[in-house]
Amino acid sequence: MSIIVQKFGGTSVGTIEKIQHVAQKVKKEVDQGNQLVVVVSAMGKSTDQLVDMANQLTPNPAAREMDMLLTTGEQVTISLLAMALHQLGLDATSMTGWQAGIQTESVHGSARVQDIEIGKVQNKLSKGSVVVVAGFQGVSQDGQITTLGRGGSDTTAVALAAALKAERCDIFTDVTGVYTADPRVVPKASKLEQISYDEMLELANLGAGVLHPRAVECAKNNDVYLTVRSTFSEEEGTLVKEEVTVEDGIIVHGVAHDEEMTKVTVRGMKKEIGALSRVFKTLASKQINVDIIINQSMYDTDITNIAFSIDSEDLEATLHVLEDNKESLGYEDIIYEENLAKVSIVGAGMISNPGVAADMFDSLSREEIEIKMVSTSEIKVSCVVPAANMVKAVQVLHNTFNLDKVEETEKVNA
Ligand code: ASP
Ligand code: MG
Repeated sequence: MSIIVQKFGGTSVGTIEKIQHVAQKVKKEVDQGNQLVVVVSAMGKSTDQLVDMANQLTPNPAAREMDMLLTTGEQVTISLLAMALHQLGLDATSMTGWQAGIQTESVHGSARVQDIEIGKVQNKLSKGSVVVVAGFQGVSQDGQITTLGRGGSDTTAVALAAALKAERCDIFTDVTGVYTADPRVVPKASKLEQISYDEMLELANLGAGVLHPRAVECAKNNDVYLTVRSTFSEEEGTLVKEEVTVEDGIIVHGVAHDEEMTKVTVRGMKKEIGALSRVFKTLASKQINVDIIINQSMYDTDITNIAFSIDSEDLEATLHVLEDNKESLGYEDIIYEENLAKVSIVGAGMISNPGVAADMFDSLSREEIEIKMVSTSEIKVSCVVPAANMVKAVQVLHNTFNLDKVEETEKVNA
């Protein structure tokens, strides 16, 4: 008998009919002799609605109460799904995160899973019950209810799969898998049959919303056999695993994009050890997340300019805190450029194929797209470009790196 963990996202359980559909899918697996753990998200947009209600009361809800509030969303779904399973004649037990033994750090809003006391779930499974676990929640050592960060139900599922040594973990969602690019931006984007954990982690961190980054991290660390697939079709999804077979000429596996970035430059700082740390400590003190950093010091002066990119929604807070600390930071002025976007290419093949970044810059410049900033990792290159050019940039890169072609091959195979 194999243990299978299946996770269904908010759109998959958005109505009673959809919950009944999910129950049917679960029954199919049980009928094949498998032991099932099912992790669910809150119904539809209900987490957003809960956030909205809190915001009507206060701009600064207490983090503890926010977690108390948001965890109710998943609690609705687990009980309804358990009832739907009962209606199909199955034994099913719903469990909140803490009932399932999911222990987290003592942090509200984005706690990491530290340990799972898996005996409670195992016990129910061994008695023949389907176990339905509330995603996105756990309990801290001091008994507080915590949440794992938006989108965190994926992480609940993968962490349970790791603890149970499950045969596989299926993430069911409203798309058929992981795509070479966002199909809304690149109509020629196609579904990937496979992607490596590392590539998926880069894509998830770059904002490809299909998987929670910590879920990918946990899958990689524990070698969880992970698939992403659609609740509403029988189509094979995308398999996320250690190594993928690289097709000829396909070095890049995905193109990602992120809108709404702003570049801020702190100009005229004295070139001295500690200048960078002063600027970024100041920003960190206001919880401002910085992405790309460029330290432009010139050889023939003792002046340096520090440029960095941020989410546009953090601009006001950034300008504020820098202005407030102008004297201690010792800069001349600040300039900023709004309406920028980040386009990135991701592919494990980059490690062994030099010239990928050069090809990226070349194809963007052919389209007269100005590159404002660049950052790289072993398997990723990101360029900050004007937001107005973002769609064009993503489409051009998708073609440059032979991803348009992937679709044609798949069509031929289909
Ligand atoms: N319901 C939570 C959210 O909307 C967690 C999840 O769906 O993964 O972020
Ligand atoms: Mg999600």
